Amino acid sequence: MTNSHQVLIVGGGTAGLTVASQLVTRDDAPEVAVIEPADTHYYQPLWTLIGGGVFPKEESARPMAEVMPKGVTWIQDAAASFDPDNNTVTTAGGDTYGYDYLVMAAGLQINWDALPGLAESVGQPGTGVVSNYSYETCETTWDAIQQFPKGGTALFTEPTMGVKCGGAPQKIMYLTDEALRRRGVRDGSRIAFMKAKGALFSSKPYEETLYKVVERKDIEVNLMTELTEIHPDQKEAVFRNLETEEETTIGYDLLHVVPPMGPLDFIADSPLADEEGWVDVDAETLQHTRYPNVFGLGDNSSLPTSKTGAAIRKQAPVLVDHLMAQIHHTTPVNGTYNGYTSCPLVTGYGKLVMAEFDYDKEPDESFPFDQTQERYSMYALKAYGLPRMYWNGMLKGRM
Ligand SMILES: Cc1cc2nc3c(=O)[nH]c(=O)nc-3n(C[C@H](O)[C@H](O)[C@H](O)COP(=O)(O)OP(=O)(O)OC[C@H]3O[C@@H](n4cnc5c(N)ncnc54)[C@H](O)[C@@H]3O)c2cc1C
Repeated sequence: MTNSHQVLIVGGGTAGLTVASQLVTRDDAPEVAVIEPADTHYYQPLWTLIGGGVFPKEESARPMAEVMPKGVTWIQDAAASFDPDNNTVTTAGGDTYGYDYLVMAAGLQINWDALPGLAESVGQPGTGVVSNYSYETCETTWDAIQQFPKGGTALFTEPTMGVKCGGAPQKIMYLTDEALRRRGVRDGSRIAFMKAKGALFSSKPYEETLYKVVERKDIEVNLMTELTEIHPDQKEAVFRNLETEEETTIGYDLLHVVPPMGPLDFIADSPLADEEGWVDVDAETLQHTRYPNVFGLGDNSSLPTSKTGAAIRKQAPVLVDHLMAQIHHTTPVNGTYNGYTSCPLVTGYGKLVMAEFDYDKEPDESFPFDQTQERYSMYALKAYGLPRMYWNGMLKGRM
C-alpha cells in the first residue's frame, strides 16, 4: 500500500467536493483525500440553459485544481476496485490507498452506446440529434433550435430508467417551444414529448401545472413511449409503446435524446453495490448497509430519490454529521435525510416552477408562496442565483 487517508472520497463532482469542503472547514477537520481523474469540474444544471442558448458552455466548467478545497489531497487517478474488508481502494494507475472512512461520490454512467444510432449521431452537425446530457453536446441543442425549419418536427425523449434531474428532459422542450415561436417557425410545427414512464412528472402538485403548460404550448405528450433506435441517415426515430408493444417510426428535424444511464461499471462490479449496481446505503443515514465505515451520496448512491445537485445539498450535511459522529464515537446531531430533492422546472425564458419534494413525492418547499406556479423570480434564481451559490457556497462548504 502506497498511502493511507483518514477520509478517502471517490469522485470530485458535486457530491464529493461538497462533502470534502464541509469536512475540511470544520474546527475538528479530519485528514481528507479525493480520488478524481478529471481536469475539469462541471456545474451540470446549467446545461439546460446552455442548450436553450442562454449561456455559452464554458460558463458551466471550472478547472478541477481551482475548485478542489484547500487542505484536501487530490489524487488525480480513477478508482478501479474496492476491498472494503481491508479498507482499500485500487486505482486504474495501479496504486492502492487505505482509508479509515470511505465516501463514494463518483456519479453515474451515461450509456451512449446502449441506444442504436445514438453514439454516432448525437451532437454531429446536420443530424438534428442533440442532448443536453454532456458538456460536449449541450451547445448543439441550441444550434439545432436555430436551424429548425418551419413546419418541422421536434421530439424530446425520456428513457425508462431514473435519470439525473428528472425534469431536464422536458425543460429543454419548453425552451425550444418558446425559441421557435420567437423565430416565427412554431406555427405548423410539431413538438412531442416521448416519455417511457407513465406520468408527466413524479410529484402530483407540480404535474398539474405542467399539464397546463403543455396544453398552452400545444405540445403532444406520449407516455409509456420508449425510444428504441435512431436512423440518423433517414432522420427517423423508432419508438415502442410499452403497453401495446406497438412500434412507430417518426421523422424528425430535431431529436433531443436523454441517453440511457445507470451505475458505473467499477461500482456495480464491486462489493459496495446493491442488486442494481448502486452504492448500497441506508436511505436516512447514507451509511453503507454492510460496511459501517463507508458512506455514499449523490448520483452513485442507492438513495431512492431524484438524482440532483439540490438533493446533494441536503444529503451532504447528514453524511458529514454521521461520519464525524463515528470518528468521535458520539451521536449524530443533524438528523436524517428525508429524500429532499428539487427540480427547477424551466417552463420558458423567464418562467420556472420550483418543485421541491421528499421521498413520498410530497412538497417540501423553501419559499413562502405557492411554488406550483410559474414565476420569474424562480427563473432568475436558477439562471443567476444558484450558479453563484454553487461555486461560492456549496463547493466552499458554506451551505
Ligand atoms: C442536463 C442536466 C440538468 C440538470 N439539472 C439540474 C438542476 O436543475 N438542479 C439540480 O439540482 N441538478 C441538476 N442536474 C443533476 C446534477 O448535476 C447531478 O445530480 C449532480 O451533478 C450529481 O453529482 P455527483 O457528485 O453525484 O456526480 P457528478 O457531479 O457527475 O460527479 C462525479 C465525479 O466522479 C468522477 N468519477 C467518475 N469516475 C470516477 C472514478 N472511477 N474514480 C474517481 N472519480 C470518478 C467524475 O469525473 C466526476 O467528477 C442536472 C444534470 C444534467 C445532466
